[in-house]
Amino acid sequence: MKITFLGAAGEVTGSQHLIETSHRRILLDCGFFQGPRAESRRKNETFHCDPKSLDAVVLSHAHIDHCGNLPRLYRQGFRGPVFSTDATADIAEIMLLDSAKIQEEDAVYLTRKLRGNHPPIEPLYTSEDVERLMKKFEPCGFEEWHSLADDDEVRIRFTPAGHILGSAITELEVRDQGETKRIVFTGDLGRRDMPLLRDPVPVTSGADVLICESTYGSRVHPPPQDLKSQLLEILTEAEAKGGRVIIPAFALGRTQQVVYFLNDLFNEGVLPRIPVFVDSPLANRVTKIFRRYDHTLDADVQEVLKDDPDPFGFSHLTYVRNQRESMELNNREGAFVVIAASGMCEGGRVVHHLKHGITREENTVVLMGYQAPHTTGRRIADREPYIRLFGREHPLKAKVLQLEGLSAHADVTDLKWWFEESTRESHFGHVFLVHGEPDSATSLASVIHDQCDTDPVIPKYRESFEV
Ligand SMILES: [Zn+2]
Repeated sequence: MKITFLGAAGEVTGSQHLIETSHRRILLDCGFFQGPRAESRRKNETFHCDPKSLDAVVLSHAHIDHCGNLPRLYRQGFRGPVFSTDATADIAEIMLLDSAKIQEEDAVYLTRKLRGNHPPIEPLYTSEDVERLMKKFEPCGFEEWHSLADDDEVRIRFTPAGHILGSAITELEVRDQGETKRIVFTGDLGRRDMPLLRDPVPVTSGADVLICESTYGSRVHPPPQDLKSQLLEILTEAEAKGGRVIIPAFALGRTQQVVYFLNDLFNEGVLPRIPVFVDSPLANRVTKIFRRYDHTLDADVQEVLKDDPDPFGFSHLTYVRNQRESMELNNREGAFVVIAASGMCEGGRVVHHLKHGITREENTVVLMGYQAPHTTGRRIADREPYIRLFGREHPLKAKVLQLEGLSAHADVTDLKWWFEESTRESHFGHVFLVHGEPDSATSLASVIHDQCDTDPVIPKYRESFEV
């Protein structure tokens, strides 16, 4: 059996790993490379395996760096099934349609920029590709074995990874030339004791091959702050000052966490009665999926559900439905809260709210978690005196708060715990560390060394291994 690492090798983007037996070819994840526009387009345009030759794709979760290039794979001839959990299939549809829109807009922009000296640039994929691809999904429940084909040669089982809704660790059993091999692919692992999601589950039946993420293999996250009481404090102050609270948040995951905490405060009767708006069409669609799968969320949510049928809604929360309603918020008087994408303020409706909000002292911008260098979010976090929005500088007078401890990724302590729990009574043969910068993967390799039969390997891009 051969494994080739076609992405997320020494970096954290473009997750894609190819497994080949004597007569099966399976792709684990088909993620988008993200980064500078030209370089990522080049990397996403072509595949280093023939899409037509693949028997199946197995998807760990619906983040774009794990599923974003699937429609391109379809466009280039892949017609096999895509196995994922049912929640992942539903979220992937929303995320991929959104991504298709961006690809279509990008192609128009690039074509216009080249001004007729060049044939029109084609989008990497379109909404039609996504719609056709979605018919190929085979949604699976957790903890059940599924055959990839009638002959039972390859079976898969999903276990909760605790990273985002629907995220899964994949176990594969592959029969090839009289031998059965077990492969475990962690996808992205989550953290323990995070809101909404169940904890990641250790895999206790061992594996011949483990492919494990290493995003934060050298980092210990700060302990999750008490986000709920911080939000209460922020809203209470806003009510007293009559100011706006602008919360830039990722549409998938972060928005639902914030709304869930506000809902809790509402149920406890302590939430200030100022209007709360969620202004993100993408987040609205994703929240519907959270409601659909609320029975799969953690024990705290199950407690809430006993008395409250909707943990993502309360009487003074409004999901903004259209652009007109969104624009009306610009002129709204008095205290209110608006939660909008994107999380690092690089696009989306939050940029409009910042433009209309950061120039006033009574307002507050609440940044959630890591802000990458060179993003508007980072400039706000650094409290630069002027922030460039829509091509113009705006003085930053609003209060800025940064809440930490919200990463959806396991840190080195969680990873160590997962390895120890998984190898109590079984063992991992070959271990490959992916989805991490070299420093991070190297550091994790030394931490988990004792739990592995052989030295963990950090594969290079397009490197193959016989196992
Ligand atoms: Zn992820």
